[in-house]
Order: sequence, then structure tokens, then C-alpha cells
Amino acid sequence: MAAGLCDRPSAAVSLSDLFDIAPIAEERADGLVRLPHHVEPIEGEALFSWLMRLGRSLDLTPRALSRDAFGVDALAAPEWWRRPDDRTLGSIARRSGVSRDRLEAMTLRGWATARDDENADRFSADRWGERQVLRRGRRIAICRQCLAEAARPNLQLVWMLGWTGICARHRTVLVNQCGACRCLLRIASLATNRRTDLLMCRRCGSAQGGSSGEAAHGSTIALQATLIHGKRTGRTRLPGLGPLDWRMTVAFIDRLLAKVWSSGSDERHERLFATIAADIDMTDELWVTRPWRSNYGGLLILAWVLHDLEARSRIMVSTLGMSRRDDLVGSETVNRVRGFRREFTVDGPSSRN
Ligand SMILES: [Zn+2]
Ligand SMILES: [Zn+2]
Repeated sequence: MAAGLCDRPSAAVSLSDLFDIAPIAEERADGLVRLPHHVEPIEGEALFSWLMRLGRSLDLTPRALSRDAFGVDALAAPEWWRRPDDRTLGSIARRSGVSRDRLEAMTLRGWATARDDENADRFSADRWGERQVLRRGRRIAICRQCLAEAARPNLQLVWMLGWTGICARHRTVLVNQCGACRCLLRIASLATNRRTDLLMCRRCGSAQGGSSGEAAHGSTIALQATLIHGKRTGRTRLPGLGPLDWRMTVAFIDRLLAKVWSSGSDERHERLFATIAADIDMTDELWVTRPWRSNYGGLLILAWVLHDLEARSRIMVSTLGMSRRDDLVGSETVNRVRGFRREFTVDGPSSRN
């Protein structure tokens, strides 16, 4: 029987205590007991989100669910949901009744990874700040409209990649603040030993469903789609750069955004952003949201540069007061690209400078 489900520190009587004595669990030939609640995955949902909903339905903390239902030590691997091993995936499938393929599609198994690219706010200015502040809970940006429209609110897998800033379904900018109290949104880890709601603001308790965010610029929607495809397949094909593997893609983006945020004064940054806004016909509505420091801002800057890498690299370097344009693109990237594509032209400036 599901004795493990009740082996947790809380003294409170809970549903899972009752399940232990209720003859509703189905024992399988492999000895694993089917969990007493079925939680149906939602299209596009991350396994993390489904696990949190499942834990809620069983009245188990995320840590207890990981350990007692699936044999995973979440303290040792708080984000184990991203790439569960075969054994874990198999036991989740057998205990939950959800097919293994469906579960795997909710994870990042098989997706490429490089240079901590799954860290929160990966394309934001904070990545390049001088001070790294450790905080509890992972920062997250969400689409309020998706949450409001969903029959069961959930976190989409693409919101969990670390650097996404757009809802492709609604073509809007993801938001990273509570709609009521404006504090940064965070989600618990699977190591949490508290019963927790998936999407409730931890400061004011507000649910996060609501109206749509600002419309995202078309260039960023296309770029994000290209990058998601690249992370899934390991290869990208970016304008001006041609085919790159995921590691080189992230190296290029890191190089470029690091140069933006570590170069120039605030005044020079403002000039650069005004130039970008004018070039892409940014709406007043989006301009006043000051999007530049967010993941979405990183996508805006990248999309603008990639539209004409040669010319816009030069503009960026002069606007920010940088000395050498090859620093912007990175000699490692240039050399790698040379190997991929002989006709690649970004190396021109480094040989001329
Ligand atoms: Zn949406
Ligand atoms: Zn709040």
C-alpha cells in the first residue's frame, strides 16, 4: 500500500493519511501502487507544474511527494523535474497513470543545455550585474491571460527555460511581477517542505490570472521561436550568423548582452535604447514599460542587432563607447562560424581593426 505517502513530518491529518487506509489504490504487478488521485497534464505544461498540482491534490509537500511517491531526494536535486532519469520517469508513469511519453514531453530531457542557460532571468541585465543576491525561490515570468483562460492554472514548460520573455500564444510580453502588490513573482522548488500553491503571490496571496500583457514586437516573437527550436534540437540558424550549435548560440548571446550591460554609461544606454525603439517602431505603450533590463529586453536587443549584424554592431559599439567591434561578437564565435559557413561575413571587422 502507499505507506510512503504518509511518511512525512507533519502531524496534521491530511488526505494522504486517509488514503493510507482507504482501499482505493490499485496495486500493480510491479508492486507500485497507483496514486489515489489522478491529475491530468495540460497542454504545454511543465512537469514541475503538474507535480505541484499533484502534490496539492494529495496534500503532500513537494519534497514529500518527490521522496515518498517517486523516490527522489529533492533536497539533493531541487529541479529534478527538468531531466528525471529513466527509473524515475517510469515510476511516475506507473504510479500516476500518465504515459511515459507524455511525462517526458513535460521535461527538458533531450533539450540542449549550455552555460547555465536555464537559470532564471538568463537574458536580463541582472545576469551581468555586480551583485548576485541569493533569494529563496526561482523568479518566473508568466502570461496572465494564459492563466485566466486555462481550465486549471498551470506553468508552461517554455516559461521555465530561463530566458523566455514572450507568450507565443497571445503574442504578449510575459510579466514577472504580482499584479496586485508588484513584488517579483517566484515559485517554490521541489525541495520545499511546505504545502504551497503553484501561482499564488507569496507576499499578498493574489492569484495571477488576468488581462493580457503588452504586445510583443514581431521580431522578438520570431527570435524566441528560433531559440526555443534551437534549444530543443541543439542547432540554431540565426540571421547573419547562420547555423550554430546551442553552446555557441548561448556564447554569442552572452557576449553581446554582457557587452551591453558592462559598457557605457546610463546616458549611453538610453541613447542605444532610443535608437532601437526608433528602428523597430516601438509603440509608446511598450516604451513606457522600460522593458530593457528583462529577458524580453534582452530579446529586443538581440533581435535588433541580428536584423543587420554588420551595421548594427557598429552602431552599438559607437553608441556604448566600446573600442573594438570584434569584442562585441566574440572571436570564438567568429572562428566557430567560419567553420560552419565560409561565406560568414562578421569576421570582416576583426580583420580590419
Ligand atoms: Zn498567453
Ligand atoms: Zn502580490
